[in-house]
Amino acid sequence: MASRTSSYKVVLLGEGRVGKTSLVLRFCRDTFVDGQPPTIQASCLERALRLGDKTVNLVIWDTAGQERFHALGPIYYRDADAALLVYDITDTDSFKRIQVWVRELRKMVGDSIQLSIAGNKSDLERQRVVSRQEAAEYADSVGAHYAETSAKQNRGLDELFSSMGKRLLASR
Ligand code: GDP
Ligand code: MG
Repeated sequence: MASRTSSYKVVLLGEGRVGKTSLVLRFCRDTFVDGQPPTIQASCLERALRLGDKTVNLVIWDTAGQERFHALGPIYYRDADAALLVYDITDTDSFKRIQVWVRELRKMVGDSIQLSIAGNKSDLERQRVVSRQEAAEYADSVGAHYAETSAKQNRGLDELFSSMGKRLLASR
């Protein structure tokens, strides 16, 4: 008998330029565009992950750049099973910004949503301004999974998304 596939909606949140589109393109299509990644027309991409004897289909919603105008409304993350909050390890403001998102998500959608935090651009270690420890402690305090990633060098993404998939499976 074929095993069941569960499908989940995952929304990407974070300041402009932190690498959200790059992460989803790397994870779903294994490509990286240096410079300006194209806006994804469909605004969502998906990838099926095999986890043990189960398959988890992650349908990942990317923004079309509205975050730059602070115009991402609840309609975007409503019905989301998980949120991936992305900041850039070389940009303190982008880290502060995810804390605002976490508060907004908790207020608007409650505790049912699974949170993951990605410190992206881990290849730029020499320009780092947000420490791993600070980010990991913050993630812990809000019950989020934390990982550092590089969409450019394809580091940390498999661990990030498989951990998200496992937690989603465990939740329903
Ligand atoms: P978004 O606005 O959050 O969707 O960010 P983008 O995916 O458009 O990326 C913004 C810029 O950061 C682009 O120039 C990307 O090439 C670059 N970028 C994205 N991810 C990484 C990464 O992991 N490392 C480095 N060095 N640059 C990255
Ligand atoms: Mg983008």
